[in-house]
Amino acid sequence: MKSGSSGSLTGGKPLTASPVPETTPHCSLCSGHAVYHDRISGRYLCRDHFIANIESRVTETIRSRKMIQPGDHVGIGLSGGKDSTALLMILSRLLPSLDGVRLTAITIDEGIAGYREDTIRSADELVKKYKIPQVSVSFTVLFGNTLDAFLKGREPEACTVCGILRRKALIAGAEQAGITKLATGHNLDDEAQSVFMNVLRGDLPRLVRDSASDSQGWFIPRIKPLMHVSEKELAVYLMLHGAWPDLPECPYAVHALRMEVRTMLATLEVKHPGTMLHLLESKAQIEAHCAGALVVEPVRHCRECGDACSGEICQLCMLKRRLGIGGS
Ligand code: SF4
Ligand code: ZN
Repeated sequence: MKSGSSGSLTGGKPLTASPVPETTPHCSLCSGHAVYHDRISGRYLCRDHFIANIESRVTETIRSRKMIQPGDHVGIGLSGGKDSTALLMILSRLLPSLDGVRLTAITIDEGIAGYREDTIRSADELVKKYKIPQVSVSFTVLFGNTLDAFLKGREPEACTVCGILRRKALIAGAEQAGITKLATGHNLDDEAQSVFMNVLRGDLPRLVRDSASDSQGWFIPRIKPLMHVSEKELAVYLMLHGAWPDLPECPYAVHALRMEVRTMLATLEVKHPGTMLHLLESKAQIEAHCAGALVVEPVRHCRECGDACSGEICQLCMLKRRLGIGGS
């Protein structure tokens, strides 16, 4: 997100998990038993205050970054995994305070055997429980085959291939549902990992561009309401609601550079609470001081499909050629 990215990142401080000591202390805000210790502020929080803290921070992120306007139809990218489950639950609970806003879940079936079946089942149960309409898009229908089939012999490229195809599938689902904003479950860890990965790649323009309000190439604005909530906090939030989805990991995740960065940052965060937040603050400072000086390539249109892209041919069309997918 470029606009409104300077200044404080959240209304409240993010929490960093640590085990509650043997003699369980009381909540710092009431006399209830603490379930969580915020290692940055030193506060202990009971169940109710922890849940309220998470929801108020998401509300503040949405408000301060003007993510959702009255009357918006928000599509939730719902994989059925932990982050998107938490996103759907939190937005559903905040819905009464969002003026005239509607929610629709968009679920993509990439076709990953032994993994996607479970997460899709979990997503289907969730939308039924919360009575939220759902649009489903499958790679087989959209691209003619499963991700598993496309990846035969190319497993190390899995996440790149998956990311490009899934982006198109999400846009197709969003257009089918007629939504005005597309919300994804990216959390603080994801955002910090992206900052670090862009630094590792030496890609400053992408570091500035790849942010919460980045909508380049997405004709439907994309929003990340959970961007200031850590993965651990979301896990605790789900557990406190009895909604922890016990799901397998994607079998291709082992190939991702992101996994190495994730492990490294998680280790640093335990030793040095606030590391991930500091990475986001660094990014905000770079945006504030350098964004105007960067040469931003004008958005062009793909010669083959007409979608927005930075070169002559978009990534999707190049990938389709490589994978032998027709009808770009
Ligand atoms: Fe796709 Fe990689 Fe995520 Fe698996 S881990 S769903 S291949 S992006
Ligand atoms: Zn309390």
